[in-house]
Amino acid sequence: MPELPEVETIARQLAELVTGRTIAAFASDWQRLTEPEPVPLVAARLAGRRIDAVGRRGKLVVFALDGGDALCTSLRMTGRFAFKELGEAAPERFTRATFTFTDGTGLDFVDMRKLGRMILVDSAEIAPAGGGGDLTLKAPLHLAMGREPLERSFTVAWLGGFLRRRRRAAIKPLLLDQRGIAGIGNIYASEALWRSRIHPLRSAGSLKPDEIARLHEAIRWVLRKAIRLHGSTLRTYRDSNGRPGGMQHEFVVYDRAGEPCDRCGASIKRTVIGGRSTYHCPRCQHPPRARATP
Ligand SMILES: [Zn+2]
Repeated sequence: MPELPEVETIARQLAELVTGRTIAAFASDWQRLTEPEPVPLVAARLAGRRIDAVGRRGKLVVFALDGGDALCTSLRMTGRFAFKELGEAAPERFTRATFTFTDGTGLDFVDMRKLGRMILVDSAEIAPAGGGGDLTLKAPLHLAMGREPLERSFTVAWLGGFLRRRRRAAIKPLLLDQRGIAGIGNIYASEALWRSRIHPLRSAGSLKPDEIARLHEAIRWVLRKAIRLHGSTLRTYRDSNGRPGGMQHEFVVYDRAGEPCDRCGASIKRTVIGGRSTYHCPRCQHPPRARATP
């Protein structure tokens, strides 16, 4: 599933292709794409709207429309967009939705596994400023999205406060919870923890101030590097131009079980934490100390 850098890459490319175009029609024969709203209702709301910008919130691609609404798309496992020039022929296989623009160009949403979703919301509801960290929110994902790690409001102090509030949680699964910090998935959590020399099973509350500062730096460093390289391609991710990303060649731990650690040479270890494959260096990421029984 694409994480923040992959979605950022897709959004930037789409911005160049569709910003300023006006939607003439939206069609989909996959009813669950827009649930709980029926497709015809979403289509009626989209018709005649101009795309003012394309951006990202967490792992969602966000089309900002004139009038203040935003169409959020969750790509999930295999969703992607394919732009169609004027007069370009038949849609490719697994096309689940089509935007036709008033100038005759179009945009297809292609999704082999049909797990992608689209929802039309008020732009104000997904504003990235502030927020984040409230893991008790039961709202739909786009409304409960946490803090953006590349925004100014993601500070060491905020991260420290967030980790204190969730002190018993293991750090790795906590980084994956979109309600706390938005956009980080399994790959970049593993990479950031290696860079900051923090074992994935450490409890959030056990991190010392220098470790929190290192983790903060590492999260931003790995995300920015991955954006520069247009994301990672493991199986199906392609950018909007159909090209794979380049970050997968730069992984230091992810998917590298048994290979030597770049820092100390020890063998990278794969474990399963919270049902997800996790990779770390057993020498430079010290395991949590066993808690003394009271
Ligand atoms: Zn190491």
